[in-house]
Amino acid sequence: MRTPMWKILGVTDDVTECGCCGRRGLRRTVALMPLDADGNEDGTAEDVAFYGTSCAAATLGWTHGKVTDAAHAAQGERNQRDAYARRMISLYAPVEFAPVREKARVFYGRNASLRHTGVKATEEVARLLAEARRTLADTTTGPARPSRIEDFRRYLVIFTQDRNIRTVLRLPDDENECQKQATAAARRAAEIEGSVLVVAALDDDAASDVAYTHDLAPEYFDQAARRHPDMSSA
Ligand SMILES: [Zn+2]
Repeated sequence: MRTPMWKILGVTDDVTECGCCGRRGLRRTVALMPLDADGNEDGTAEDVAFYGTSCAAATLGWTHGKVTDAAHAAQGERNQRDAYARRMISLYAPVEFAPVREKARVFYGRNASLRHTGVKATEEVARLLAEARRTLADTTTGPARPSRIEDFRRYLVIFTQDRNIRTVLRLPDDENECQKQATAAARRAAEIEGSVLVVAALDDDAASDVAYTHDLAPEYFDQAARRHPDMSSA
């Protein structure tokens, strides 16, 4: 079987000019990474080529549809990696500079099976954060994504009585609106005999994870929520 010379990395609407024929004003392009003779990626971010779908299809010897499907599948995987990176940063950036004991409590609290395996929480947290930051800084198919604690948004989480998450709400930036939502949430929580928690995270899925992890290092997660720019004046 002939080894294809390129691998499809994803799809982007940031690059609208075909790197193959020069056609401009395309709605989107396909990001292609050159491969060596063994089929391994042969290049860095600068070597990624952006082709219109037709040129990508001609280059790969594929149908238009196969290129589109592969590009969307690859982009879907990238988006999943981004979501995972946002979770890792939301969970571990708040304890990055915390004492080892706090860091270990959060890490092993989430990875109980690694507790007595010689896996060191400090090293793992550093590794997970570095990897997550690299993922979100990757600009192959679009601009870098927010990854700092300062980029965290605040979420209001309503727990049921048995500590399951019922609702995750993004808190509005406006302080009055924010108060209104908090009051409404407190009322809803009271109705179900649940409780309310405000956490900070890079997205709402990550907010759920932070909410479930909050009790392992409450002061650090609360501190991260206070670093939100909207809170600095409060
Ligand atoms: Zn072209």
